[in-house]
Amino acid sequence: MARRLFLFALVVAALVGGAVWLADRPGSVTIHWQGWRVDTSVPVLISAMLAFMAVVTVLVRLVGSIIAAPGRFLAIRRERRRRQGYAALSDGLAAVAAGDRRSAGKLARRADKLLADPVLTGLLTAQAAELAGDEGEAEKRLSAMVERPQTALLGLKGLLTLAQRHGDNAGALDYARRAWALGVPVEGLAASLFDLQARAGQWVEAEATLAEARKRRALPVEDIRHRQALVHFERSVRAEQDGDQAGALALAVKAHQGDFTLVEATVRATRLLHRAGKDRKAAAALITTWQVAPHPILVEAMIALAPAETPLQRVKRLEKLVKANPDAADGHIALAEAALAAKLWGQARTHLELAAAQRPSGGVYILLARLEREERQDEPAAQAWLLKVAAAPGEPAWYCAACGKPADGWTSACPACGAVDGLHWRQPAQALLPVPV
Ligand SMILES: [Zn+2]
Repeated sequence: MARRLFLFALVVAALVGGAVWLADRPGSVTIHWQGWRVDTSVPVLISAMLAFMAVVTVLVRLVGSIIAAPGRFLAIRRERRRRQGYAALSDGLAAVAAGDRRSAGKLARRADKLLADPVLTGLLTAQAAELAGDEGEAEKRLSAMVERPQTALLGLKGLLTLAQRHGDNAGALDYARRAWALGVPVEGLAASLFDLQARAGQWVEAEATLAEARKRRALPVEDIRHRQALVHFERSVRAEQDGDQAGALALAVKAHQGDFTLVEATVRATRLLHRAGKDRKAAAALITTWQVAPHPILVEAMIALAPAETPLQRVKRLEKLVKANPDAADGHIALAEAALAAKLWGQARTHLELAAAQRPSGGVYILLARLEREERQDEPAAQAWLLKVAAAPGEPAWYCAACGKPADGWTSACPACGAVDGLHWRQPAQALLPVPV
């Protein structure tokens, strides 16, 4: 501020000085030009020249702005179209997210027209087409996005979703593999690729995906452990088919140790350990799994370790299971059944009553009826139990989380719909239960 004031004072001083200097030196100027004669003083001539320069400057500026006007008008118009285009683009994406099919289509066309840039509007037009059910158009737009490195990932993701919706597993696997190869983190891509590879039986490739996912931290550690256990289980199945007993055993044990809740892996490990003469290890594996996932096939596997033992020996063996997890109804049922065979009535009753309290079922009532008959020959009491069977809750079974259908046994892929790792052990849905009378 002070500097500007100082400069201003300096300029004023120079002007005043100049004016005084000129006034002190009067002189005349005479100009002859084309028969004209002008007589004037030097200060007047200088003032006239300054005025003339000022007029010329103003004129030049005016003409310049008149010439530039159409260009500026076009620029303003272009800017307005661009702004409207972006508004249509963002509103369109919002409409897609909200599932508003009509607005999405309209806004997509508007953004496409205003922005005239397929790279920018590709995603919106593709999603709007998809929403409108025009999957051919959506696929075309997404494929165009794949051509450009900047939009390739978005395009592949869209194509993957589209293929999965059609049940085109081969196509989906191809898109997932290409998207994964780009190396950019994408939510859910590692899991999708693994599932598609597993579904296609490509367990070696699926295992490689897990190794890469571990490096990229693309999946939670626990999830990787579980999936790795699935891979070891399947590789053990292949090894056994190929006659590689030692490999099959090692892989089954790895599967069991990778995820104790994978009961089928434990049963497989137990069977192969038993075949290798390692019954103590087999029983230990069964007990470990039983503590976290007390599934009835573990009881069968426990019995299969010594199929020829006496009823009393079996009671002793199953007591270990029940002790390891007293909350498991299936343990009490199995022990009660063994006790019935050994005619240990009191023990049978105790465990049946515990099972009935933990998880009432037709199976428990049938065993209670058998107990009344065998211990006390009490037919009316037996009949009373049998009457309850029809209204009893259904037994748990394997159900697919993807398609909801039951399966006879556990497999890594659902036998009905092929979903990988979809089968879960649970009670049947309430709606399927018979109405109690
Ligand atoms: Zn299924």
